[in-house]
Amino acid sequence: MAELTPMMKQYLEIKKDNPDSILFFRLGDFYEMFADDARTASQELDLTLTSRDKDPNKSAEEKIPMCGIPYHASESYIARLIAKGYKVAICEQLEDPALAKGLVKRDIIRVVTPGTVIDAACLDDKAANFLCGIYLDERSAGVAFCDISTGKTHLTAFTGKERVEHVINELGRFSPAEAILSDGAYAEGPLTDALREKFSCRVENGGARRFLLPEAERNIRAQYGDEAFSRLPAGNPAAAMALGGLLSYLYETQKTDLSHIRDLDYYEQGRFMELDLTARRNLELTETLRGKEKKGSLLWVLDKTKTPMGARCLRSFLERPLLSVTAITKRNAAVGALVESTMAREELIAAMTGLGDMERLIGRIVYGTAGGKDMNSLRAAIERLPAIETQLGAFTDRRLSELRRELDTLDDVGGTIASAIDDDPPFSIREGGFIRPGFDGEVDRLRGILKGGKGVIAEMEAREKERTGIRTLKIGYNKVFGYYIEVSNSFKELVPPEYIRKQTLVNGERFITEELKNLEHEILTASERVVALEYELFGKLREEVSAAAARIQKTAAAVAEVDALASFAAVAVRNRYCRPDVDESGVIEIREGRHPVVEQVLKNNLFVPNDTFMGEKEERVAIITGPNMAGKSTYMRQVALIVLMAQMGSFVPASHARIGVVDRIFTRIGASDDLSAGQSTFMVEMTEVAEILHHATRNSLLILDEIGRGTSTFDGMSIARAVLEYCADKKLLGAKTLFATHYHELTELENTLPGTVNYNIAVKTRGEDIIFLRKIVAGGADRSYGIEVAKLAGLPDKVVQRAKTVLTELESENGVQYVAARKETEQVSLGSISEGEVLDALRRCQPDTLTPIEAMSLLYELKQKLS
Ligand code: ATP
Repeated sequence: MAELTPMMKQYLEIKKDNPDSILFFRLGDFYEMFADDARTASQELDLTLTSRDKDPNKSAEEKIPMCGIPYHASESYIARLIAKGYKVAICEQLEDPALAKGLVKRDIIRVVTPGTVIDAACLDDKAANFLCGIYLDERSAGVAFCDISTGKTHLTAFTGKERVEHVINELGRFSPAEAILSDGAYAEGPLTDALREKFSCRVENGGARRFLLPEAERNIRAQYGDEAFSRLPAGNPAAAMALGGLLSYLYETQKTDLSHIRDLDYYEQGRFMELDLTARRNLELTETLRGKEKKGSLLWVLDKTKTPMGARCLRSFLERPLLSVTAITKRNAAVGALVESTMAREELIAAMTGLGDMERLIGRIVYGTAGGKDMNSLRAAIERLPAIETQLGAFTDRRLSELRRELDTLDDVGGTIASAIDDDPPFSIREGGFIRPGFDGEVDRLRGILKGGKGVIAEMEAREKERTGIRTLKIGYNKVFGYYIEVSNSFKELVPPEYIRKQTLVNGERFITEELKNLEHEILTASERVVALEYELFGKLREEVSAAAARIQKTAAAVAEVDALASFAAVAVRNRYCRPDVDESGVIEIREGRHPVVEQVLKNNLFVPNDTFMGEKEERVAIITGPNMAGKSTYMRQVALIVLMAQMGSFVPASHARIGVVDRIFTRIGASDDLSAGQSTFMVEMTEVAEILHHATRNSLLILDEIGRGTSTFDGMSIARAVLEYCADKKLLGAKTLFATHYHELTELENTLPGTVNYNIAVKTRGEDIIFLRKIVAGGADRSYGIEVAKLAGLPDKVVQRAKTVLTELESENGVQYVAARKETEQVSLGSISEGEVLDALRRCQPDTLTPIEAMSLLYELKQKLS
């Protein structure tokens, strides 16, 4: 330490307080990083590391590795580090180095973290970016989410032994980028694993100091107001603790105005449908299972919003399906009104198209990172509000009218910005040139001086000539004296007393006056002063606009909702959806239902619609059989998605639908290994089934696809049957269940198990070919047609032939009923397949529509049976 320069000592002092951040240390026009920070940053950002550690002539300080980036390009570098999960502490010079006496004062002005970024470069404008606070103790749990880019906060709390599962399910809703955990939460392995692995979330142990009740209460009151605080549950302080922990982290890292964070949404369990991570993933709500892409997800079909805030609102509708029939009906009535009035809807949509992100703009303005361009984007958005208001006026629907009333056209704010900021301001507010001419007299005057310095001088020259009567008087400039007045010797006597002599020449003399020196100072400093003045005026404007933040946020929220509802309506019209009747009957009745995503992919109306009926007593459990590839999974997911869409308030892909609200949807679909977590395929399957049976209620909807496939046939069939009986039994569970299986033996249960009914997806066979009709019909399927489908998938001819032989042997040998009695007419000839025919079939088949995984699993199964 003794060897170090004062600046390096200052660096180390600051670094000591920010050990877990990469410290950007401002030195002139650069941010420098040192030691380990430099090593990390150079690797992550491909920067050259200045390392002189091998040079024996260098001091210890000079040997410290370092790297730097120009300050004006820092945003993109910060964005890249944040995306990789780092925190960046920004240390600025707090005084002008030119004026500082001794060491320049420096301090951290902000710590940028994955959950607290606000710069547009780091954010996806169609998704919120949440910081999360989690509190957990032996009996309760609280979880808070705050998106500081928009100022929205959501909060909930749980008690009881399933509190951790509930918290994890909430995480699925919000997908936080960063989480601050109390000691209890940090010690909870499944929670931290889920955060890190499922959400790639940065996890930080906030420790006990951040989760203190009195401080939490004080901060919540100060941030959100007493009224918001009073809505928190009195009996469960976990909610306040979670939010308190989050706020404490925010205050420590942000050190800036956070007054735009004031909207606190406390919700209780029971307001939204809870979905676990498996169901979210399997139903491909916001991304596809395999590619993790938006294209191919439900969001991809439903999101036709025109504004970023509308896109985020629609996404939140999708993440939070409703449970209250009243709330659902209110929303779908608004969609209905928009569907019915084509003209008014189109005009409303046109009025919103391309509207800027008011929510995030006001966030950045309050926060202090906005520039002139942001102000103008906000103004442009505001100027379009009257048109939206007018278009909304065409509707009498209750929710749309409410939204119209919530919309404030903000003329005053728009006007203030318009009068102050030029139409095409530069990016930075540090270099001036953005205040509109005519807004501020002093700015105009200084600009006049800047532009016409010569004119001001010429004017003074004329004035002085006139005043003194010296006809030859001239004002000149040189580098040594600056501006001077030159008087020729013949007029010497007329020089007024206030002229101060500076130089004597052969033909005359040069003078200065106080006025001239002042003018000179003005000319030389005008540029600096106008920059400083414009900056100051921007600060005032920022304050004025910030004072209207609550109104702007409320309006933005109203526009967002209108946009999301209009998107539901536009999609409903384009895709021929119907308005569902939503009630509490417990009945799900769908006529001509379609899978919203598959039908889009298939196009040309190739999708075959299917009906569904699931009652409270009758037909509560449907056992669905049918060949591989027939469309069982598609059908079951379609039912789940239609229910979900109905509870979001959307229209649904069907010709008629009556949806009795379900409390949760559970799915167990397909094989997925979790080898990284040390679990086999079968273990994953059973764990998921266990979760479902523990948490489902009689009001839940269960989608169970091929339970018991990952083990031996008898084990598997026994498990499948036991699960089915459990689901069907009203005393045990009695939930509405769609149960797809290849164990045809289970279809017998229709006769013995109350509430169960058999369905199958019809196929026809022509010769050896199997034709998929995609139609669900009553009754069980006769057999699996697994070998035929495997053939279609391209299994080698020898394997197919051998499989057929084995199947015939098995069927005739020991009486094991692998297949139900087959109808002779439909029977596929098993013996007479020539290689030529196999090749023909291969030529005809369309690999894009095949699922090779099924074929592979069949191959394994066949091999197992052979051995
Ligand atoms: P497996 O038992 O092998 O899992 P499956 O019966 O579950 O098969 P799906 O995966 O649901 O079959 O469907 C297979 C393919 O059939 C789908 O990818 C889709 O392209 C098509 N399909 C499914 N249902 C329909 C339908 N109703 N109309 C048109 N095509 C459909």
